[in-house]
Amino acid sequence: MLAVDLISKYFPDLSEKQQSQFDLLPRIYQEWNDKINVVSRKDIDELPVRHILHSLAIAKAKPLPEGSTVLDLGTGGGFPGIPLAIFYPSIRFHLVDSVGKKIKVVNEVIDHLSLSNITAEHIRAERVKDTYDFVVTRAVAPARQLFNWTHQRFKKDITAEQGIIALKGGDLTDELSALKRPYQEIAIADIFEEDFFETKKVIFIPM
Ligand code: SAH
Repeated sequence: MLAVDLISKYFPDLSEKQQSQFDLLPRIYQEWNDKINVVSRKDIDELPVRHILHSLAIAKAKPLPEGSTVLDLGTGGGFPGIPLAIFYPSIRFHLVDSVGKKIKVVNEVIDHLSLSNITAEHIRAERVKDTYDFVVTRAVAPARQLFNWTHQRFKKDITAEQGIIALKGGDLTDELSALKRPYQEIAIADIFEEDFFETKKVIFIPM
């Protein structure tokens, strides 16, 4: 299925610009992945479900309010930040990763799609200085580590609606008991019907 058809199944109100951006995304990654491997070979054919739709689970589980600012921690090739930035053209995203070649690919994708609401930076999470309303992240670190890295990276006037939104999978029992903070767990299987999401969760850690 074309990426845009899959995304439209769950997000029927995309603008033409968003549709063409989602349509182009798999092709851009195909091309770049041959030069710099940022998505596993197995996953590149499954990009629409495993990367694009998975990233957009955040938009269903924890919709981001207009005017928010968002840090994508350990973005790798741009997930979840790039699909979310296409979906939310008026929200500002800062994508960071500790590996420079990944940020290079992210910047190529940003240029190709003319995404003006994303900046990407080669920096470790621990060194980020700005403050945000949300941190989004997938497959980077255990929940407690994510909290330790980012709890000072939130705006001072935040409310309980703001916090860390992490895409996670597998058995999270130990990881979440080690967090020692309140959290919400949303099953992506309740949002998207594809088998890939069977064990996948959105974990929200309010600040
Ligand atoms: N979020 C992407 C990549 C996951 S792989 C995706 O889901 O596809 C984990 C990424 O986190 C790697 O790109 C790694 O370089 C980055 N990373 C790990 N520790 C980090 C840290 N302390 N600061 C910034 N990036 C980090």
